Amino acid sequence: MNEKQVRVRFAPSPTGPLHLGGVRTALYNFLFAKKNHGTFVLRIEDTDQSRFVPGAEKYILESLAWCGLVANEGITRGGAFAPYRQSERTEIYVRHVQTLLDRGFAYYAFDTPEALDTLRDQYQKKRMGQFQYNAKTRRLLQNSLTLTPEDVSVRLAEGVPYVIRILIPENQEVVFHDLIRGEVVFHTDNLDDKVLFKSDGLPTYHLANVVDDFLMKISHVIRGEEWLPSAPMHQLLYRFFGWEKEMPLFAHLPLILKPDGHGKLSKRDGDRLGFPVFPLQWIDPVSKDVYRGYREDGYLPEAFINMLALLGWNPGIEQELFTLEELINLFSLERIHKGGSKFDPEKARWFNHQYITRLPDEALAKMLVQWSLDRKKSAADGSDSIASSSCHSITDMNYALQVVSLIKDRITLIPDLQENARLFYSSPVTYDPQVKEKVWKTDSAQIITEFKTKAEQLTEWTPETLHRLVQDFTSLKKLKMGQLMMPLRLLVVGSNQGPGITEIAAVIGKEDFLCRIDAGLKAFE
Ligand code: GLU
Repeated sequence: MNEKQVRVRFAPSPTGPLHLGGVRTALYNFLFAKKNHGTFVLRIEDTDQSRFVPGAEKYILESLAWCGLVANEGITRGGAFAPYRQSERTEIYVRHVQTLLDRGFAYYAFDTPEALDTLRDQYQKKRMGQFQYNAKTRRLLQNSLTLTPEDVSVRLAEGVPYVIRILIPENQEVVFHDLIRGEVVFHTDNLDDKVLFKSDGLPTYHLANVVDDFLMKISHVIRGEEWLPSAPMHQLLYRFFGWEKEMPLFAHLPLILKPDGHGKLSKRDGDRLGFPVFPLQWIDPVSKDVYRGYREDGYLPEAFINMLALLGWNPGIEQELFTLEELINLFSLERIHKGGSKFDPEKARWFNHQYITRLPDEALAKMLVQWSLDRKKSAADGSDSIASSSCHSITDMNYALQVVSLIKDRITLIPDLQENARLFYSSPVTYDPQVKEKVWKTDSAQIITEFKTKAEQLTEWTPETLHRLVQDFTSLKKLKMGQLMMPLRLLVVGSNQGPGITEIAAVIGKEDFLCRIDAGLKAFE
C-alpha cells in the first residue's frame, strides 16, 4: 500500500444523468477513502461544452446525496484546492499546456475540422484503416512541426483557429501497474496525438484530468474501465510534466454488463428490460423523455448501495447484507473482480425486500401515513380510493402499525406498501369479476349470511377467536374451508388477494368487517 495520504476523487462530467455504473465508481472511491481515513474529493469535469447538459450537475449532486456518498472536499464543500469545477480553472490549464509546448511535448495544429474529415473519408474509401493524427501523418499536416516558426507566429497573431496536440513519442512501450489488472502495456505507435487544448480555448478531458489529479494531490485514480485506453497517454503526460514520482496509482473498474452478459449495460437497457439504470428519475431537458430512477421506483438507498457494492467486488464471505460501516471496514481494491459483472435486476429487488423487512414497523407506518396524506392532498378530484372512502383514519399511527405488521413481508418496493395497505383503508369499490365467476356459488350468499350472524355474536375480536369461529362454523356446517373463505374474501377485499382473512378482519375491526359483508351481499343480490 502506498504510504502517502489517501486522496481519491470522483470526477463526473455533467453530460447527462449519472448511470448506476457511475454511482458504483463514486461508491468504491468513497469506501476506499473512508477505509483508509483518506479524503473523497468531488470534482466536476465540464470542459466539453458541446456535451454540457443543463441540470446534469444538480442531478449528480442529488444522486450522491440520496446514496449518502458525501464528499469531504469538492464543489459542494470547497477545500484547499478550489475551485473544483474545471470550467473555473481554465487559466491553470493554459499555463500547463504552455509548459508542454515550451518543452516540445506538445504542438500547435491548424488543420481545419473539414480537412481532417476529408482525410478520414479518404482513409475509409481507400481501406487504409482509420485516419489518426500520429507519427505517420503529422509530418504531412498543418502544424508547428511542419510550418516555419514565422508562419506559426503569424497564424497565432492573426487568430487562425488551432488546437494543441500531445506529441506522442515513437516506438516506445508505456508500462504501468493497474491495481486491479496488474501490469498493463501499451505501445506508443498505437496512440494518436490527442488534442489537449481545443480551439474554443478550453482544455480537453485528458489535460485537465491529469493536471487536476496532480495539483489536487490525488493518490489513487479509481475509475471505469472505459478510461483504460486513455491511461497510457495520461502516464506520458505525468512524464512530460516531470511528475512521475507523484503519479497516482490506477485502478480501472470492470464494466457492468447487461443481465444476459452481452455487452455493457446502457441507458436504453432500463426501458427495454423494465428496470431503472439511473439512481433518480431523469427527465431529458430536450426530448422530455422520462427515465426511471431507483428512488422513484421505491428502492431504499441503503439497499441500492449494498447491491451496487457487490456488483464487481466481493468481501470473500457468505454474508450479503452490509451496512455502509461494514462495507467500509471490509472494502479493498484487491477484491474487485477483473471481469465484468452481470447486472441482475431481480437481485436488486431482493436486496430491497431484505432492507424493507428489516425496517422498524414504525418507519413503514410513518411512510404509509405520509403517503396517505400526500395522496389526500393531491386527490382533490376524488379519484383516490384510500383518501376518499376510508372508514379508518389515515393519520392513525396505531392502525397503520397493525396494517404494516400484516403486510411487511409482501413488500419489495415502497409502492407495494401502499398497494397492500389499500384494502385496510377502503372497502371494495368493485369486485373482481373473474374471481366472482370462480368462487361465488349458488349457496354462497346463504353461507355468508349465516357466518355473519355468528360473527356478530363474537365478543372478543382477535385473529385467534376469528380463526376458531371459522373452524367451528365450517365443521358444524360440514363445509370445505374454501366454500366460506373464498366468497368471504371476495366480499371483504374485492378480489382473491391479501393476507389471511381472519387477520384482515381483526385489523379492520368488527364494524368494518360486517359492513363490508353487507355491502357485498347487497351488490350480489
Ligand atoms: N470526467 C470523466 C468521466 O466523466 C472522469 C474519468 C476519470 O475518472 O478520470 O467519467
